[in-house]
Amino acid sequence: MSSFPRIRSVESFIISIPRDTPYLGPLGPGESVNARGYLIRQGNRAIYPSTDMSVLIRITAEDGTVGWGETYGIIAPDAVTSIIDDVLGPVILGRDPRDAMVIQEDLYDLMRVRGFFGGFYVDAIAGVDIAVWDLFGRLLGQPVVKLLGGQRMARIPAYVSGLPRATLEQRVALARELQARGFDAFKYAAAVSQEGIVREMRQLREALGPDVRLMVDLHWKFTAQEAIQLVDQLAPYQPYFVEAPCQPEDIEGQAQVGAAIKVPLALGEEWRTVYEVRPRLERRSMSILQPEMGHTGISQFMQIARMANAFHVKVIPHASIGIGIYQAASLHAAAALPNCPMHEYQHSVFDRNLRFVQTTMRCEGGHFMLPEGPGLGTVPHDDVWQYLRPKGGG
Ligand code: MG
Repeated sequence: MSSFPRIRSVESFIISIPRDTPYLGPLGPGESVNARGYLIRQGNRAIYPSTDMSVLIRITAEDGTVGWGETYGIIAPDAVTSIIDDVLGPVILGRDPRDAMVIQEDLYDLMRVRGFFGGFYVDAIAGVDIAVWDLFGRLLGQPVVKLLGGQRMARIPAYVSGLPRATLEQRVALARELQARGFDAFKYAAAVSQEGIVREMRQLREALGPDVRLMVDLHWKFTAQEAIQLVDQLAPYQPYFVEAPCQPEDIEGQAQVGAAIKVPLALGEEWRTVYEVRPRLERRSMSILQPEMGHTGISQFMQIARMANAFHVKVIPHASIGIGIYQAASLHAAAALPNCPMHEYQHSVFDRNLRFVQTTMRCEGGHFMLPEGPGLGTVPHDDVWQYLRPKGGG
């Protein structure tokens, strides 16, 4: 009987925004940008784009109302848009956006028996899921956080992630600048910690004082026992957490580190569903879970976060590179949670990309302000379309 507007169209777009300094800082020895615009960090042997790349999703309802989504498109974004354009979009035409979680489950089921329960396929679902939730909120005139069980926070504490400067001295100076602007939590990146991971923690602690929270992202670089040895050396400087010590597949290693170290362990930016998280929670591998909205979408993010709460694990969401749509989704989801003490703040990306979205979302004085307005309260600004990358190459 419902005359509620149905989904009329689903479109995807690739955005590629130039940046002066690559993510994680200037190119190091042996690092160069290849013909496709990618570079490989020698510190962790992972590939990164030299631009800020993202995939946007626009879902339009029968009455013309638009919902926006965004997903992780930093490498091979055409893989994600092909899945959306060829598979996911056509399947959800005519669906009721109020069925957001049901739609996410239906899309997941399409390729499940073929073993596609991760990677690009689930990233594509995440972007569509965020757009469906945004559309749902806009059609109701309600912020998404109000549709997720209720709002607990309007401001979310933020930690500064990454100190993209070439030398340790410059990184410490940047942290002090940010401290003067009201930030009290800082994470640095082992992949670009050329002067030494322990030395960087020590110098940050000495420069910033005893009250700031310090964290290090170990970037999956170590065996379990190497990580345990390293974290013992970091422990005197009282890290708030250490992140991602072992390779992503190493479930036993993660559990071994979690059991041996006396510093809280944070994991999970690369996991997409409850099925990846559950075995780690069952082994009590970590104290802190870091779901990435660009990989999970809102439907899975909330299930992951609620499951973590049942295991007495905190959620400190990861924040990848985007123009701000999935960042806004992550803040809406985080604001609904009882177990979220803070959210990652990718200052080198977030602030410069705010000009590409219309939003009241801000990160100032150590806090994120949740965007106001219906849906996610965050839509692409016209300025972003100059950075549209043609599909199939570009
Ligand atoms: Mg990380």
